[in-house]
Amino acid sequence: MSFRPLPRLNLRNLMLAMAIFSVVITLFNTFYATYEVQRTLLINNTLEANRAYAAKLAEVTDSVIHSTRQQLAYSAAELVTRMNDESALMAEARRLHEQTNTFNSVVVVNAKGVIVATSPDTLQVKGLRLSSASALQSLKARAPLITDPFVSPSGNYIVSLSHPVFAASGEYLGYISGTIYLKQSNMLGELLGRHYYQDGSYLYVVDRNKTLIYHPDPARIGERVSGNPAIDEVLQGQEHAHQVVNSAGTDMLAGFAPVNSTGWGIVAQRPKAATLAGIKEHLLQVVLKSVPVGLLTLAGIWLSALFISQPLRQLATSAGLMNRQSAQTDITGVSSWYFEAAQLKQAILRGIGLLNERIHQLHTDSHTDALTGLLNRRGMQQALDHFQKEQVPFSLIALDIDHFKSVNDRFGHDSGDQVIRQLAGIMQHQARRNDVLCRSGGEEFMIFLPGTSASNALDVAERLRHQVQATSVELVGQISISLGVTYCDPADSITDALKRADKALYQAKQQGRNRAVLADPGA
Ligand code: GH3
Ligand code: MG
Ligand code: MG
Repeated sequence: MSFRPLPRLNLRNLMLAMAIFSVVITLFNTFYATYEVQRTLLINNTLEANRAYAAKLAEVTDSVIHSTRQQLAYSAAELVTRMNDESALMAEARRLHEQTNTFNSVVVVNAKGVIVATSPDTLQVKGLRLSSASALQSLKARAPLITDPFVSPSGNYIVSLSHPVFAASGEYLGYISGTIYLKQSNMLGELLGRHYYQDGSYLYVVDRNKTLIYHPDPARIGERVSGNPAIDEVLQGQEHAHQVVNSAGTDMLAGFAPVNSTGWGIVAQRPKAATLAGIKEHLLQVVLKSVPVGLLTLAGIWLSALFISQPLRQLATSAGLMNRQSAQTDITGVSSWYFEAAQLKQAILRGIGLLNERIHQLHTDSHTDALTGLLNRRGMQQALDHFQKEQVPFSLIALDIDHFKSVNDRFGHDSGDQVIRQLAGIMQHQARRNDVLCRSGGEEFMIFLPGTSASNALDVAERLRHQVQATSVELVGQISISLGVTYCDPADSITDALKRADKALYQAKQQGRNRAVLADPGA
C-alpha cells in the first residue's frame, strides 16, 4: 500500500496567513483612505484659501481704482480754467504725481492730442502729438477711461487712467491721465506683491483681453494667455476656484476673482505638488504610529492561532502515532476546549477503544481452541515463553483420552467432540487460578502448574483421572484418561520436559491406561 505524503500546510499557519493577510489589507485600506481624505482636504482648503485671497485683493484693487479716479476727476476740475497755463498744468501734474504716489507718471493732453504737461518732467515727451491708435484711446473716449496696455511715446509699456477736461460751455479741452508702468515697480505691485506667502504661491492679473498686466515674472507681462479656463471664467465675472494646468504644464490650484471696476481678473494659485508635499511625510507618521499596535495585533493573532490550533494539532499528532502504547493516554490528555476538538477527541477515543477490543478479540481467538475454549498450541507456546522469561518453575501433565478412536467409531464424531468438551470442562473445574490448560492435539491435553512440585502435580493428575472416571458422558458413558507428569526447573530445557511428560504418558498407556505416571527425572 502506498501512502501519499502528508501536506506540509497546517491549521496554525493557515490561520496565521489568513490573519496577516487581513491585517495587511485593512492597514493598507486605512492608509489609502487617510491619504485620499487628507489629499482632498488639502486641495479643497487651498482652493478656498486662494479664492478668498483673490476676492480680497480684487476688492482692495477696486477701492484703490475708485479713489484714484476721484483724484483724477478732482485734477480735471482744477484744470478747466488753466488749460493754456503751462506752469499751472505742470504744477498740477507734479502735485498729482508726487502727492498721491499712485502713478508712475502723470500727463496732460490737450484737445489736439498734444502732450502739454508731464510729471516727472524728465519725460522727453512734452509737445509731442499723440499718433498711435492705442495712445489716442483716451482722446477719442472723451470720458473717464482705463486703457488697454500699450507702449507709450516715452517707450514704457503702460496702462493709463484718464479723466476728460470739459469747459463750462461743454467744449472738450483734453484730458489728464495717470499711468501705470506695467514692467516697472508700480501700484499694482505695491498692492499685490506684498504680504504674500512664500510656498510656491503667486498671483497674476489679466486685463479684459487676457493680457497679463501683473505677474511675478516681469518677462511675461504683456503676454496674451489663451486656453486657461480660470482666466476665461474670471473675465466672465465669476469668482471661483479650481485646478488648472499653467503655461509651464504644472498642475495648479487656482482661485480667482474679477476686479469689477476695470474688467480685470486676479488669479491666485499654488502648485498642487507644493500643496501635497507634506502629505507623504504625514502618512509616514501615521504608518509609524500604527506599527506598534499592528505588531501587537499580529502577536495576539499568532498566540490565538497557537491556542486554537493546539488541540487539533495534538489530536492529529497522537492520531498519527496510534500504534504507540501511550496513544490512548496522550489523546485523553488533550485539552479540547471547543466543540469541534471535543467531538474529534471523543471520536478518536471511541475508535481506539473499538480497535483495542478488536485486537484483543483477535489475539484471544488466535490463542484459543474453538471447541473447548482452552489455549491452543500458540497460546500454550506463549505461556511457556512467559514461564521461561520470568523463570517460573512448573510441573506439567500430558493427558490423552483412552481408546478414543473407538468412541468415535461407536458413537460418531459429534459424540467424540462432546467427550472432548466435557473433559475440558472437568479440567477447568478442577484447575486453580494460575494453572494453564491447553488442548495440544485432537484428544490430547497439557496442564501447566506453576510453582508446583512433581508430587503435587501427580496428586492433581490422579484427582483429575478419578474425576473423569467418575463422570458419565451422555450417550457415551464412562471414559478414562492416561496422564504423564514431570517437573521443569527454570534451568531445564522446556522441550526436554515436554518430551519427558509425553514419555510418561506413553508409559501410562503401556501400563494399561487409566493411570498417571511420574516421569523419571533423568529420562
Ligand atoms: P489410545 O488409548 O492409545 O490413545 O487409543 P486411541 O484410540 O485414543 O488412539 P489415538 O490417540 O491414536 O487416536 C486418536 C483419535 O482421536 C484419532 C481421531 O480420529 C480422533 N480425534 C482426534 N481429534 C478429534 C476431534 O477433534 N474430534 C473427534 N471426535 N475425534 C478426534
Ligand atoms: Mg491420542
Ligand atoms: Mg487416545
